[in-house]
Amino acid sequence: MDLSIVIPLKDEEESLPELSAWIQQVMKAHQFSYEVIFVDDGSSDRSWSVIEDLRSADTHIKAIKFQRNYGKSAALHEAFRIVQGDVVITMDADLQDSPEEIPGLFRMLQDGGFDLVSGWKKKRYDNVVTKNLPSKLYNAVTRRMSGIKLHDFNCGLKAYRRKVVGDIEVYGEMHRYIPVMAKWAGYSKIGEKIVEHRPRKYGTSKFGWERFINGFLDLTTIMFIGKFSKKPMQFFGLWGTFCFIIGLGFSGYLIISKFIDREFALTNRPAFYLAMTLMIIGTQLFLAGFIAEMISRNTSERNSYLVEKKLGL
Ligand code: UDP
Ligand code: MG
Repeated sequence: MDLSIVIPLKDEEESLPELSAWIQQVMKAHQFSYEVIFVDDGSSDRSWSVIEDLRSADTHIKAIKFQRNYGKSAALHEAFRIVQGDVVITMDADLQDSPEEIPGLFRMLQDGGFDLVSGWKKKRYDNVVTKNLPSKLYNAVTRRMSGIKLHDFNCGLKAYRRKVVGDIEVYGEMHRYIPVMAKWAGYSKIGEKIVEHRPRKYGTSKFGWERFINGFLDLTTIMFIGKFSKKPMQFFGLWGTFCFIIGLGFSGYLIISKFIDREFALTNRPAFYLAMTLMIIGTQLFLAGFIAEMISRNTSERNSYLVEKKLGL
């Protein structure tokens, strides 16, 4: 099978028939062998019965329905576990992403040698204040922290080699950072394609400006996990020792000055509080590192590695 098209959705009943017909038309025109996997993420409208009707007319369509709303990452995760196509495409259900982009993305993976290609909504049809501007900042920060040169990390339209989605685990709200996770997993050929973006035709957006605050917290998590989850002490230990030594330096200075300057009211001096706080924080960080180290020693993943190839085994 060439393609698996994965579509997470929540309350998109009006868009589904149009989207499905459009995909079918593009797939026919290019003669792809394909499957469409809808994941109904706990819709409260008629989305699921619409999907049932679509399925009865077209066996390319497969679908999963969640018992309640778990979020876009969960929806992608469930679909990624069952995809059969060589190339996996994800797209939003709200007709903001165009199926016409699929053949181009497919070619970039098959002929261009990319592991992952992300869409770039260069011309965007969303609210400027709540979406477009914060998104510029968000993308700039993510680009700097991850070292991946993408303009639009959170674009719903992306294409992957099947092995890539099998090797990463999307959870929480980490769907925003799939390219970062792919890079940690060793997939460095990450490309970008300018894609057509369209205004939302039906329904309303499911994400507001809060996504950016949560997004930044998730970014620190993912960077930390990628770098230090198997050696947390190297992070906490370093900073803990650093704080403790500076605190110790201040204490030494206070003790010496107590005798030289005959200054006995130590609690009046800012250095006293600095010394105390730094030594306590330092010890805490060190302990946190130690506990994290014990935890990572006990996880079943402590020795799980992604193997690319084997020879003579
Ligand atoms: N979505 C989902 N679960 C959720 C929220 C959204 O599956 O909890 C789907 C939604 O139906 C759409 C896609 O994720 O297909 C992108 O959402 P939306 O269009 O609301 O985001 P925006 O385009 O405004 O960033
Ligand atoms: Mg949308």
